[in-house]
Amino acid sequence: MIRHAPADYVCPFCRNINEGGADHPLEMIRIYDDVVVKMNPKWWRANAGALLVVPKAHYENVYDLPVELGTPLQVAVRDAALALKDVYWPSAEEMRVMAHKVRSAWPT
Ligand SMILES: [Zn+2]
Repeated sequence: MIRHAPADYVCPFCRNINEGGADHPLEMIRIYDDVVVKMNPKWWRANAGALLVVPKAHYENVYDLPVELGTPLQVAVRDAALALKDVYWPSAEEMRVMAHKVRSAWPT
């Protein structure tokens, strides 16, 4: 496998997982047997935040990921997506209340 990391490279994800160290605020959301989900602190300008799903073991690239890790990664990605959906998308009732408030506040 082709490697790009220099010999003295310190993987920030491994540092997060193994030492709890970080250069940015570190918020671990969920720790599974083989995978962790952590906050990605405001990486994208337009987004308040994002979640990163990372294997506990170090893999430099996707070519090295073992097939057996596919299901654990998918479970974590799905759980993360459902959690974000609950946080960012209101329920149908909340949406109706918001719509009513917006209609009421609409300039005439
Ligand atoms: Zn790593």
